[in-house]
Amino acid sequence: MAHKLLIMVICAVIIGGGFVSGMPSLASDYYPIRPPRPPLLQENFEAGDPLTEEEFHSDISSKTGEMELDDSILWDNQHPELHEGDVMLSSGKNAILSTVRLWPNATIPYVISSGYTSTQRKVIASVMNIYQNKTCLRFVPRTTQANYIRIQKSGRGCWSYVGRIGGAQDVSLDDGCIASWAPGVVVHELMHTAGFWHEHMRPDRDKYVSINLNNVRQEYRGNFNKMSTTQVTTLGLAYDYGSVMHYPARAFAVDRRIPVIKALIGSPVLGQQKGFSTLDLQKLKKLYSCKSR
Ligand SMILES: [Zn+2]
Repeated sequence: MAHKLLIMVICAVIIGGGFVSGMPSLASDYYPIRPPRPPLLQENFEAGDPLTEEEFHSDISSKTGEMELDDSILWDNQHPELHEGDVMLSSGKNAILSTVRLWPNATIPYVISSGYTSTQRKVIASVMNIYQNKTCLRFVPRTTQANYIRIQKSGRGCWSYVGRIGGAQDVSLDDGCIASWAPGVVVHELMHTAGFWHEHMRPDRDKYVSINLNNVRQEYRGNFNKMSTTQVTTLGLAYDYGSVMHYPARAFAVDRRIPVIKALIGSPVLGQQKGFSTLDLQKLKKLYSCKSR
């Protein structure tokens, strides 16, 4: 069950991944149920206590990566569910047309819903802690900041806006998005929040992957759009098959025997959900001009 839920989690794009520049922003990875419209601000948000130091330092690593990709986050399993009328919002149609902005001082104020279990809080806090240990990004409990994220379960899967959009903005982490053995899903969503789109949408992606759109239903094809250099920047860093922002080979495949994304160089595994790759960290640090880490 947990696996199935998790599956829904993987992000499809509305906004997201990787680089910033003047693009709108809702990156939604997977919608387990049909979203009528891009989820802008959820109603009925009830704030929980800020995450504690103890939660930040809880150890979830013992289970991380315990399950191999093929055994756990199978887009395969997930696919039929998404297939039946689930709407994946595409960046072109529903993205907000304002300039994507970075978070000043690399600091993201947050509030977190009261609806999480203590285990879920630990996973989310641990991921934030990884950001803070490995980059200059910081997550701080919101006090009076005008711009901040609201982490909550929306019932619509895992999604985030790409970058700071102004005011309160939601980050959706449903139950299926939070597993100690696949913290990469939370890492992924928060990378959208920081300002990154999906790796396989980079302007230079055709040199690294081929995309078989014939094996993707029309309504999901927007998730494989290639962005232009006027929309995003690669930050001058290499294409990364191992990015936590890269889709798996069979994402949204109609025929599961045929990959949708094929690497053109070597035979790398695509779509890992364990956490940051080395290049993910370099990109984050470059985007935010981190001095050391
Ligand atoms: Zn995503």
